[in-house]
This record gives sequence, C-alpha cells and structure tokens, in this order.
Amino acid sequence: LKVSFEPLDLPLQDAFGISSRVVTVANNVLVRIEHEGVVGYGEAAPKPYYGESQASVLAWLPRLIEVLPDEPGDIRAAVRAMEHACAHNPSARAAVELALWDLHGKRLGMPIWQLWGIRGSIPLSSYTIGIAAPDVMAEKAREHAEFPLLKIKVGTPNDVENLTAIRDARPDARIQVDANGAWTAKEAIRAIGRLEEFGIEMIEQPVAPHDLDGLAEVTSATELPVYADEACHDVRDVQRVVGRCDGVVVKLQKCGGLWPALEHVLAARAHGLKVMMGCMQETSLGISAAAQLAPLCDLLDLDGNLLLADDPFAGVAAIRGRLSMPTDPGLGATRR
Ligand code: MG
Repeated sequence: LKVSFEPLDLPLQDAFGISSRVVTVANNVLVRIEHEGVVGYGEAAPKPYYGESQASVLAWLPRLIEVLPDEPGDIRAAVRAMEHACAHNPSARAAVELALWDLHGKRLGMPIWQLWGIRGSIPLSSYTIGIAAPDVMAEKAREHAEFPLLKIKVGTPNDVENLTAIRDARPDARIQVDANGAWTAKEAIRAIGRLEEFGIEMIEQPVAPHDLDGLAEVTSATELPVYADEACHDVRDVQRVVGRCDGVVVKLQKCGGLWPALEHVLAARAHGLKVMMGCMQETSLGISAAAQLAPLCDLLDLDGNLLLADDPFAGVAAIRGRLSMPTDPGLGATRR
C-alpha cells in the first residue's frame, strides 16, 4: 500500500461569509493510496470549528497511515483503527477512508452506491449564499437563477435587509436559512418570526452547538423544521439531539468518511430524524463521494465544488440543483 498526501489549497470564486467568519481559500489536503497499480483519492476539508486545520491533518496523516490494515478492502477495520488512533480529527480520517473506498470501488469496477445497493430519487441540492452586503447577496441569487433552492447564511444584524434583497431578486426561489449557531434561543425565536414572512422552509443550527436546551426551545417554538449541524457531528451525537430538533446535517468531513456517514444517516433515521447531506468547500472528489449516499437523504446541500475558482477533479456537480449519481468506479471523480 503506497500512501502519499499533499496540501490542496483551493481559492474560492468569491469570499464566503458565515455568521462567525469569512473564507477566501479552502485549505484542504489530498490523499492518494496506490495498491497493485490502482490509485484511490480522498480529500480532507478541515474546519477550525471542529478543531482541525490543514496543518493538523498533515500532522496526523502519518499516524493514520501507520494503523491501516494490510488488506485495503477491509475498510471497516481501517475506520475502527483510525477512530482509535485519533478520535478528534474527522476530516483527516475522512481523507484516508475516502481514498480507500475510491481504491476499493475501482478494483471492483463499480461506484460505491452500487456496491451498497443504494437507489432511489435524489433530492434537489441547494445553492448556498454566504453573508455579504444585501446587494451582493441579491446579485449572487440572481446570477444563480437556475437554482430553484437557495440556502442563505443568516445570524447577522442585517438578516431582514439581506432576505428582502434576495426575495426581490428571486421571488420564485425556495429558501432555507443557516445561522451556524449565531443566536440564543430567545434571539432565534425572534429572528425566525421576522424571517418567516420571506417564506423560508427550514432553519439550520439556530443556536450554539452545546446549547441543546436552546435547540429544543427553538424547535418547539416554530412550525419550521429545525436541523442540527454543528450540534451533531456523527452517529454518537444522534442521542444528544433526538427530541430536540427535526433533522440532522450529515457531512463526510464531520464524521470521518462514507462508512461513518452511513451509520450517521441510519441512526438519525431510526430515531425519526430527517437527514440533510451537507459539505464543506470541497472539490468534485468530495462532492462525488457524498453523492453516493444522496438517495438516502431528505435534503441535499452539495454545492462545495461550485464555489471553487478551479476544481482539480471532474465528477458530479449539482447543476441547476440537480445531482446525478456518479457512474465511474470508486467515488466517481477523476483528477484533471
Ligand atoms: Mg450548516
């Protein structure tokens, strides 16, 4: 098993703002695993609010590679060994796990969804608009008029102005909002009351990740579906949020790859929670990986690759919000 990795710095088309920060470059990491002449790729998209950085991923990867089983197809053993070696570095684990699935699928000559027998209709994917001045956000909404579903970042003093401008630009759009934990429960309930007139369909992570009582308070105060994102990293967190929200956001980069994401999806479903599959700023490699589980989800937000200035991978993309299942073996993305 030949494993190598390198930093993958991905400038974004435009600065991307959420309630706590602005991002202009995604500092990701690319992992390459070669076995018997077949090459698998995986990607880490580390985020500081999960305690990770490009540097931490690069520092942990040698340790993760060390614990991999000899048989590259024994991915469950690899996942267990990596979780044991570094429990708190999900994107580093995801990069290796995804490379193993890519390799495995390529050796079998089929995409992972086919291997797992995942079929069904694929929900519409949203296009995310980051926080900026109202006219800038409205222009983004207009530029992406072919996307029927928008996800608007909120949690600023200007949310009403921003939504007003976006509604003027896109009276037709379906709108979801994501506060990324910006509010207290009281602030969230007040803010949602003001935003409801814009016809929003759901609200993501209204309160801080640790504020589970606040999450429950917001969920019981509004008719809108409330989803937990930062409050629910992986399958172990499902118990914490059950009964306190309507759905969870699953991301390969939060939980450590495809196998942990499948567990996260199934546990959420078993507890009667809805599931959104989300992403970070990732290449078409990461998005094609997430797409493998798309038919298992109620909502999709898989637009990370659409926000990049240059995509070093070709794979599936949510064109006009429509994603198709990858057809190439493995994760279904090829290096350009
Ligand atoms: Mg979110």
